[in-house]
Amino acid sequence: MSIYGQSYWEDAKPAARARAVARGKAPKGDLTADVVVIGGGFTGSAAAYTLTKAGLDVVLLEAGHLASGATEGSIGAILPVPDAPLLDVQKVAGKRVARIVFTELRRSASELSSTLKRLGIRCDLSATPLVVNAPFTNDAARLKKEVAARQALELDAAWLTAEASRRALATETQGAMRLQGAAVVHPVRAAVGLAKAARAKGARIFEQSQVKRTTFTRKDVTVVLAGARITARGVVVATGTPGPVFHQLDRHVRTVRGYAVVTDPLTPAMRRLVGARKALYTEGTESPRFLRWLPGHRALFAGLTGPDLGSAPRRAAAVRQRTNQLMYEFSLRYPDISGLPLAFGWDMPVVTTADGLPWIGPHRNYPFHFFSIALGWHGEAFGWLAAKAATRFFTDKATKDDQQLGFMRAL
Ligand SMILES: Cc1cc2nc3c(=O)[nH]c(=O)nc-3n(C[C@H](O)[C@H](O)[C@H](O)COP(=O)(O)OP(=O)(O)OC[C@H]3O[C@@H](n4cnc5c(N)ncnc54)[C@H](O)[C@@H]3O)c2cc1C
Repeated sequence: MSIYGQSYWEDAKPAARARAVARGKAPKGDLTADVVVIGGGFTGSAAAYTLTKAGLDVVLLEAGHLASGATEGSIGAILPVPDAPLLDVQKVAGKRVARIVFTELRRSASELSSTLKRLGIRCDLSATPLVVNAPFTNDAARLKKEVAARQALELDAAWLTAEASRRALATETQGAMRLQGAAVVHPVRAAVGLAKAARAKGARIFEQSQVKRTTFTRKDVTVVLAGARITARGVVVATGTPGPVFHQLDRHVRTVRGYAVVTDPLTPAMRRLVGARKALYTEGTESPRFLRWLPGHRALFAGLTGPDLGSAPRRAAAVRQRTNQLMYEFSLRYPDISGLPLAFGWDMPVVTTADGLPWIGPHRNYPFHFFSIALGWHGEAFGWLAAKAATRFFTDKATKDDQQLGFMRAL
């Protein structure tokens, strides 16, 4: 049976997640903390962990359940590169910013994988090559230039010939760019594991605790909930999008819906026809597509985008229509498995910016806040990067390079 509107990763029941990590009910009355983290997705959980590890007293507030936002909709890939190609980022944001972002993100991806391993978080972490396919000749010419540009900056990138690429991907290809440092994970377990590690270090974690607004004086910031006020030295906004609380920042982001499907298990005959299935696959085309193979011989294919439809019936219809379209596109890449049923199809917001880079850092109108929004398709390594940068910010160790990740680069 096909399930539309539910992510494949929704296996960990919300109640079990809450019992495992959160501290009972929503906070009540007046509290204090060094830093309040708003949002308990991958980024907020990572920030709660790195901030408490640095010795700060942290409260994390999640409106719903931990890891139930975009984190739950992701394909569970730690991607060591941003959404946009280096050549585009250089053009829009300049060479210096491009170098910082590409270097920092690669480092963050490796550091995140090693942290998940070191903490013993059971999230099916597995290192994998990331192969950016060029299905057509035009894409290959563009990708070859991209590989050369990355190599010129001593960034990791290798060109795979059409033959080598076909061996890795078992699909139509004119060549590909191969990148190191990627990994696949169970995104919900990774995020909840980081929240647990934060709690073990003393973070106070509250689910079903929606922040209504934040106010500040010259001295400190207050985070306001329905029944509580938390006064702190700083706030990490890890909500992925500005949302109603920070709607003044809406003009800095663009939100569309992204779609993903998980197939039924491949039959043994199909498995023989689709190669080794070891690489994480994406495409060097205008609109990204992502493919990862799951345990149990299923495939997860994602990437189509459409407008952000507000109303429930229109959104449900769009999920059905677009996830079926994704299945069709998947079958064009792998004709040997066409006819395989869709098991899960869902949608999630994809929040991006004009230059394809996120906003990670402070904003001049919010003196106590550190934002991590608009992480695009590549949120997990950026989430870790944001967590580390926020920790430097609140321990007075921010670097000049950190400034290039945030609103400063647009001012
Ligand atoms: C189909 C698809 C596949 C993707 N695959 C990948 C991938 O493989 N790898 C990758 O890196 N990225 C991927 N992404 C992007 C990725 O999902 C996100 O960028 C990333 O998970 C965002 O994590 P986050 O913690 O920043 O946001 P979220 O997981 O959305 O967390 C934000 C949290 O804030 C909470 N919140 C919001 N407002 C409030 C409030 N007022 N008070 C309290 N809490 C609040 C929300 O409830 C939510 O839980 C994908 C995106 C899509 C659409």
